[in-house]
Amino acid sequence: MKERLQALRAEALEKLQQVKDANNLNELRVKFLGKKGALTEILRGMGGLSAEERPLIGQVANEVRGAIEQYIEEKQEAFQREETERRLQAETIDVTLPGRPMAQGAAHPLQKVIQEIEDIFIGMGYTVAEGPEVEHDYYNFEALNLPKDHPARDMQDSFYITEELLMRTQTSPVQVRTMEKMKGEVPVKIICPGRVYRRDDDDATHSFMFHQIEGLVIDKNIRMSDLKGTLLQFMREMFGAHMQIRLRPSFFPFTEPSTEVDVTCMKCGGSGCRICKQTGWIEILGAGMVHPRVLEMGGYDPENYTGFAFGMGVERIAMLKYGVDDIRHFYTNDLRFLQQFARM
Ligand SMILES: [Zn+2]
Repeated sequence: MKERLQALRAEALEKLQQVKDANNLNELRVKFLGKKGALTEILRGMGGLSAEERPLIGQVANEVRGAIEQYIEEKQEAFQREETERRLQAETIDVTLPGRPMAQGAAHPLQKVIQEIEDIFIGMGYTVAEGPEVEHDYYNFEALNLPKDHPARDMQDSFYITEELLMRTQTSPVQVRTMEKMKGEVPVKIICPGRVYRRDDDDATHSFMFHQIEGLVIDKNIRMSDLKGTLLQFMREMFGAHMQIRLRPSFFPFTEPSTEVDVTCMKCGGSGCRICKQTGWIEILGAGMVHPRVLEMGGYDPENYTGFAFGMGVERIAMLKYGVDDIRHFYTNDLRFLQQFARM
């Protein structure tokens, strides 16, 4: 009986060595150790043994069972390791592969300039006001002292939508709307950035659509010197501490007196060059004291209140600041142009 047990052990180990997979292993477990397996079969003969032999054979049988069980367990672990290894191989991610580049956007140069101008004026206590681009004739012209038959309307060929509606030709209507909203309260201290539209033929310096920023201040005792100081401070923050400005008399229907404002040429610093036509000065914006009639229409008594207003073209500021020679560059969406501003 002892020999049969040892033969069984030898057979089991040999078969187990050749086992190929987990299913096969399970079949062998049943075959050798199962209830109807080979070991049980041999042990059925224990009844015929003497009392001395029984514990000895029992011990051998336990050893054989233990040896086979241990071998099956080792095999099973080996299969599991293989399975894990195989799955890891299949699911490997190659972290050394270069990633797909992601295109990163950047603010448009005009938006950057608008932001910069806004920041400077916000620093001086202004708030930003906005209004609609499709505007009533009343806000765009009439309330700004430009009645229907006013010759200055010719200065601004307009896109009319109906008799009474047009694409705004300036951001000044936002000033009128703000005055209405404030209902005579002071101080008014706003800047109004936005798109405006004129029936211009596009060329290097003109576009049918461009951007303006206007400012309006109303309070008691606002003087021309306040306007000059404000604009000088703005130019110095925008273009450098050495900037100077000069005021030349001009005419706008909504201001009185009106002035054109020149600034030191950024190119030559005032000594004269091709850009400034040898004058050392660059014309940069229009301004003036708010016309009493405009104050009145806006609900402010011109006997008690005064104010100043100014307006500038964002494209012109951007062209001077960055040395851009053609306004059309801003609208043609050429990435070679736009990307130069991405890191500024
Ligand atoms: Zn110059």
